[in-house]
Amino acid sequence: MERMFYLEGACDTSQRPRLSSPCHGPVNPRQASQLHAHFECVRQLYNSLLAEAMKRLKRMKADPAWQAARRIPRSDKPARTQAFARLRTHYGFSEYGLHEAAKRLRTKWLAEHIDSLMAQKLASRAYQAANRVCVGQARRVRFRSKGRGLDSVEGKTNTSGLRFHLQAGADGNQGWLSWHDEQFPVLIDWQDEVVHHALKSRVKYVRLLRHWASSPQAQGADCRGLVYTVQLLLEGHPLQKPKNRLGKGVVGLDLGPSTVAIVPQQGPARLLLLAEELAPDARTRRRLQRKLERQRRANNPEHYDAQGRIRKRATGQGRRRWRESRGYQKTRRRLATTERKLAAHRRSLHGKLAHEIMRLGDDLRIEKVSYKGWQRCFGKSVGLRAPGRFVDAVKCVVARTRTAQLHEISPFHTRLSQYCHRCGNYTRKPLAQRFHRCPHCGLGSDGLIQRDLYSAWLASVLDPIRLTFPSRGQLDIHWQSMEACLSAALEATREHASAQGFLRRFGIPGVRACRPERLADPQQEPTASSEVSEALLVAQEPL
Ligand SMILES: [Zn+2]
Repeated sequence: MERMFYLEGACDTSQRPRLSSPCHGPVNPRQASQLHAHFECVRQLYNSLLAEAMKRLKRMKADPAWQAARRIPRSDKPARTQAFARLRTHYGFSEYGLHEAAKRLRTKWLAEHIDSLMAQKLASRAYQAANRVCVGQARRVRFRSKGRGLDSVEGKTNTSGLRFHLQAGADGNQGWLSWHDEQFPVLIDWQDEVVHHALKSRVKYVRLLRHWASSPQAQGADCRGLVYTVQLLLEGHPLQKPKNRLGKGVVGLDLGPSTVAIVPQQGPARLLLLAEELAPDARTRRRLQRKLERQRRANNPEHYDAQGRIRKRATGQGRRRWRESRGYQKTRRRLATTERKLAAHRRSLHGKLAHEIMRLGDDLRIEKVSYKGWQRCFGKSVGLRAPGRFVDAVKCVVARTRTAQLHEISPFHTRLSQYCHRCGNYTRKPLAQRFHRCPHCGLGSDGLIQRDLYSAWLASVLDPIRLTFPSRGQLDIHWQSMEACLSAALEATREHASAQGFLRRFGIPGVRACRPERLADPQQEPTASSEVSEALLVAQEPL
């Protein structure tokens, strides 16, 4: 019986344009086991390269010269750099040094699966992982176990090793992936105009990915339950669909843990819930999590005490072995599949909104915020709506257009959420206060200026290079035309959100909660205590 495997495209956020193309093709059980064997060899070579890198790092750090180099003051940068560079060369702790090691470690039987260029890429990857430990960005490296494996591998060129080619001539519809001697057929969705456009470009190199499907019976899975995906990294520029034509003008953006305010120079402003259509099936997820927990307990009763708590390890006891039954693995896969589907849907929604924004203007302004800081306070909504990922999606689309710009404004200097344009004063708002209300000049005392929309407007009028506002008079003129626009956006959001039942996300009180004092200070995210919110505010916007 023939199984399928998919090919799809990748887009990265680097400035160099690359293309993508999704395609898929059949894989029979023989080919499935060949691919599995290839990936196992890749894993083993990666692990040995990583071990080699860590060994070299350990030796280098044990050298007294390492401590001497660390003692050189940071002000004497050339001497410091030179001392560390000398140590790295001596111990072979460099990308090139590991390429040399890869030559030695790629023994005969591994060479039957992995060509020299692929080994070089693995060596670079191992070096980068070890280097993060060296420079203090990470505490340890992760070796890949047999169960988990390594799930991606890439070549360096499309002329040898792992490569992709299209059949020439009249049968030019068939694509092939070659690895070693085997050829894996690739079905390509020629109906997709993006793919059609992409495949005209030269392939720079190929990346092969795999992931576990929910079961071997799942669509596209091989007999082991693995789905293979190929990413082509192509030269040139991706297709710009006619509907995604780039707009003209400035667009101010303001992101919240789950919301985004969009204020373009022309056209209506909007206040949206990020990835609104995303519908996590909380019941299914919770049920699977409970099942997983039950199965873990049933498989490992010796690790729990009479009250059902995990037993503490005795002193000197080594690592505990947790047994995993087949059923447990099956449940874990099903849970992982629901999460993966949700992530894919979110990615698609983020991309769609990013394109919508690009249609409004080609000069985007956004505050540079630490999304990691938000994760601590608003773990649940940030995890689901992923504002940081959304900014990445916008950056990706901006990079693809080649002419558009994205200005990330430092909140440290501008403090947009505290500024009042009428009197020029800065007043801190608690995080729960979602409306701009100036105590100095009384702007917004009618409670109609939503804070996010106001910040987004301020971002759109700010000079992004000098970080200064235009004169008070100019701001006033601009504001007169904008005020109605922002209230219209607020009204539209109020109507839409109350119909959908997520008014509180925007800090807009519902109909029943519409007492005057509640209107004054509506509560937003209930997860953050006021102390945490204050701390967060200080961290984000130091005075
Ligand atoms: Zn004011």
